[in-house]
Amino acid sequence: MQQATPIRVYNTLTRRKEDFSPVEPGRVKMYTCGPTVYRYAHIGNLRSYLMADWLRRLLEAQGYRVKHVKNITDVGHMRQDMLERGEDKVISAALAEGKTPEQIAAHYTEAFMADEAKLNILPAHEFPRATTNVTEMVDLTKMLIDRGYAYTAEGNVYFEVGRFADYGKLSRQQSAGLEEGVRVEADPLKHDQRDFALWKAAEEGRMLKWPSPWGDGFPGWHIECSAMAAKYLGPEIDFHTGGVDNIFPHHEDEIAQSEAAFGRRHVRYWMHGQHLLVDGLKMAKSTGNTYEVSDLEKRGFEPLAFRYLCATARYGTRLNFTIRSLRAAQKGLLRLREKLSEAGGRATKKGAKGGEKLRGEFWSALADDLSLPRALAVAWRVARSRLPGAVKRELLMDFDRVLGFDLVARGPSAFAFPIEVEALARERTELRRRKAYPEADAIRERIRGMRYEVRDAKGGTAIIAIPVWAEPDPAISSSGDVDSHLSEPDRVDFTIGIVARRGCEELERCLTSVSQWANGVSAEIIVVDNGLEEGCGARLDQLAAKDKRVHVYHADHFLGSAAGLNVLLKQARGHYVVTLDSSVEVKGDIFARLREVLVGPRIGIVGRWGVTSEDLRSFEEAETSGDVDAVEGYLMAFRRDLVNETGLLDEKYRFYRHLDLDFSLAARTSGYRAVIDTRLPVVRHEHLEWAATPEEERDRLSKRNFYRFLRKWGERSDLLVAQAR
Ligand SMILES: [Zn+2]
Repeated sequence: MQQATPIRVYNTLTRRKEDFSPVEPGRVKMYTCGPTVYRYAHIGNLRSYLMADWLRRLLEAQGYRVKHVKNITDVGHMRQDMLERGEDKVISAALAEGKTPEQIAAHYTEAFMADEAKLNILPAHEFPRATTNVTEMVDLTKMLIDRGYAYTAEGNVYFEVGRFADYGKLSRQQSAGLEEGVRVEADPLKHDQRDFALWKAAEEGRMLKWPSPWGDGFPGWHIECSAMAAKYLGPEIDFHTGGVDNIFPHHEDEIAQSEAAFGRRHVRYWMHGQHLLVDGLKMAKSTGNTYEVSDLEKRGFEPLAFRYLCATARYGTRLNFTIRSLRAAQKGLLRLREKLSEAGGRATKKGAKGGEKLRGEFWSALADDLSLPRALAVAWRVARSRLPGAVKRELLMDFDRVLGFDLVARGPSAFAFPIEVEALARERTELRRRKAYPEADAIRERIRGMRYEVRDAKGGTAIIAIPVWAEPDPAISSSGDVDSHLSEPDRVDFTIGIVARRGCEELERCLTSVSQWANGVSAEIIVVDNGLEEGCGARLDQLAAKDKRVHVYHADHFLGSAAGLNVLLKQARGHYVVTLDSSVEVKGDIFARLREVLVGPRIGIVGRWGVTSEDLRSFEEAETSGDVDAVEGYLMAFRRDLVNETGLLDEKYRFYRHLDLDFSLAARTSGYRAVIDTRLPVVRHEHLEWAATPEEERDRLSKRNFYRFLRKWGERSDLLVAQAR
């Protein structure tokens, strides 16, 4: 091994990059906060486990003997406030699935291990489960009581934050910020509301509970990590990793417990991975934008493509995940493997010096706070270099010890191919040998038709599958993928826009009805397929082929309601824009009427349906034509120019509710009126988006949008029509 570059890491505790030096020379003790096993891990969780994996591989490559511990939380208090309310996610998941908590935990633990293996994350040396380490947690709690840092109250044990002077040193925070919509009631048993539970008394009928000196109960979440880190690694450890969400309160409380109990520093280096965003938003089950490893596989990606994608950003920065970026990562990964497979030949002295220089750059990039993007760039410089094949090969294989891309094991074709393809490829090689090139080319085409590609390299012929994701794909992954024509001149009078997520027939009904009535006007029709169901996109393309005014944009997944509309607004070139929900059917000429109303003084938005309000909290459907507080999204017509004043729609509105109101109020605040015309010849059918969303989900999503709306407009009752009367 070459001379190791000293490792420097950013320590959350000190907010600086520091030189790494282990507690015990040559050995590294590493603890990673593991999963709570009541559901599948999402790729955001996995990103932080990848960070820990890269760290461990780097340490091992430098010759350290690493002991890595990753706990499995099978008592599922994900958050302290849930614990305080006595909730347990493992138990609720078990009840919901009709299984025992043990079965639930075992199932998701296994799934977690499988996901990690697919991402080439080295298994930790220990995966201690919370439920088998309760004795240690009880002992630690006893120690804290004995040392005067904790107190009991009605079978519960609390850590007394005021007794620990260093509380807040990691997060620079003393208590949770007031989270919107979450009100944690003051616990009368606590001396100070900052105090947190180490042990909770079990309520009547609770499934997961253990005996303790304070009666039957169950441990807190934070004590789990303090107890297991001490048991498996000792009181002082080198690295503790987790996601930024863990900093407060979880890791802050862990420090308080461990340092109060053992009287010495708990962790030398705290490392936290940043969030993975999806479509620019924080990934969360509640936002409906989570991906699991299986979701990537279903789309034809290798899980390792996600590992490659994560290597393109530093762990401390947010990474925005899109299908498009994953596709680029998959291509990059395959190309790198291909480069390695092409690099052959016998080892010589030639190129050794240049190779060593690149090797040095690679390892020092990693040693600099795990700069994977820089290290990856060096790997690519090697792959593209003129270094002798043997040198290239040796370097890339060396790098892959940390990168973990399976560059060698999988070779250039990560996908298995059928025997027929192989036979054809052999036939083609034989034809080429006989210089029968036209025949050889014909066979290449046949192979291509079977969705495989043959590539000739020095060492022979490689067969590469053309996977689904590699097709030339015009589909968009975010509204950022389309250019904005908002500042460009009009091309037609009307842009008619339909953004649809569900309902093939409904969409067809809406589209046919409007295109029929748009025959007499200068118009373009833009349809955004916002993640429509299988087969529907193709049907839409057929319809579009028959009418050259129709332009279709396919999104490769549901972008969110606002983002879908933004695609439309950015691409529109009409003087007026008319948006229609696919539940609407046009029954007559709406265009003459809309044009007539839109020329009126200070008219911003016109529609068929609208609402008024007294307080911006409840809204009533308007019955008659005239001014309203907001036009409803079923049909909205406005000058395209208006968007230059209001700005594009707020993409945090993934669910459609209140998005239309937000848009109308933005127009109103710019001094425009919103009006409806009940004589517009349109009808409304069942609204699929509403009908297809389960009631509970609907309430939750509606509520989120409602609060978002209130924060922005709640104080603007001056805008209301009722005020003007
Ligand atoms: Zn933890």
